[in-house]
Amino acid sequence: MNNHITVLEIDGKALEHNLYYFKQKLQPTTKVLAVVKAFSYGSDDVLVAKFLANKIDYFAVAYAHEGIALREANIQKPILVLHPQIANLQSVIDYCLEPNLYSFEIFNAFLHLAKENSLRAYPIHLKFNTGLNRLGFLPSGIPKILDEISKNQHVKIQSLFSHLAASEDLNEREFTNKQIESFKNIAKQFENHLSYKPILHISNTSGVINYPEAQFDMVRIGIGLYGFGNDDFETSQLKNTHNLVSIISQIHEIKAGDSVGYNRAFVSKTPIKSATIPIGHADGISRGLGNKKGFVTINHQKAPIIGNVCMDMIMVDVTNIDCKAGDKAIIFDHQKTIQEFADVSGTITYEILTGISHRVQKVLKE
Ligand SMILES: *Cc1c(COP(=O)(O)O)cnc(C)c1O
Repeated sequence: MNNHITVLEIDGKALEHNLYYFKQKLQPTTKVLAVVKAFSYGSDDVLVAKFLANKIDYFAVAYAHEGIALREANIQKPILVLHPQIANLQSVIDYCLEPNLYSFEIFNAFLHLAKENSLRAYPIHLKFNTGLNRLGFLPSGIPKILDEISKNQHVKIQSLFSHLAASEDLNEREFTNKQIESFKNIAKQFENHLSYKPILHISNTSGVINYPEAQFDMVRIGIGLYGFGNDDFETSQLKNTHNLVSIISQIHEIKAGDSVGYNRAFVSKTPIKSATIPIGHADGISRGLGNKKGFVTINHQKAPIIGNVCMDMIMVDVTNIDCKAGDKAIIFDHQKTIQEFADVSGTITYEILTGISHRVQKVLKE
């Protein structure tokens, strides 16, 4: 591996640890769907999917092209496309992806294509809106869906699902329980009319943690695989999977009164030493982390980012750190740092992870 560059090291052992942490919370028969959308939360969907393929039951991505990339990398597991979009339904079929159908518009479009392609019992997933108000049929659509499905040989309902709006927030327990109840009612109506039993699923990571009674037949785990639970305790039980590391490109001696970086945002009062690191906002280091809000770690010491974050680089204060060009600079290798970056940037850990850009090279260490 080239260690003269910025690289995101995906920790395979940590992924596996996190997967088994959630598995031990599940009934032995509950299936696991690994959510690998958005490049597996800012890492590398192909590397992660290959690593997890024989350890889980299902994959999910958001968009069709994400599923196509997995198929082109020879991933054979079933792949649920959460937001397939009508324009991409033919590619969904061509690549053996399984669409989420969430409205009559897309449902009818898919049934039409299924017939045109002479499909037989093609797996489709129906999503119901139980309160998130994002994507999903309303329960009032069930009779019409059943009517269409009962006379249709081209598709089969592989799963019925919904998504919780606030599973991480225990103050919303009443609302969440209502969502779960409403989902059970929906499932019952289908079970009364179908000769087979679709897979039922509603929980994401925090659903698994807070609502173990709502596992149904499968759970959809995203952020948990990548090391984050919904509170400090759960996160402490998980291992960090995204390790973002770089290197010092150059050291500068800065005299008192000299400035560092664009807009001269940092002007030194005293003589200091700065280090330039080849990672910038185009790589996912938010500009909000500039001006000492963020830091990197060099030789076990914190080096604050000084001045503005540039597109391709940051400069950090290494006055009191024994270091030279070529030394390793850790951007983050622990959930605590990722959480801190999220806090000071006014966002959530999901966005810090998914913000790691395509430009950063990725490797998976098993
Ligand atoms: C992204 C997503 C998930 C994964 O959620 P996490 O909180 O990351 O576990 C599950 N289900 C749906 C429908 C999603 O869009």
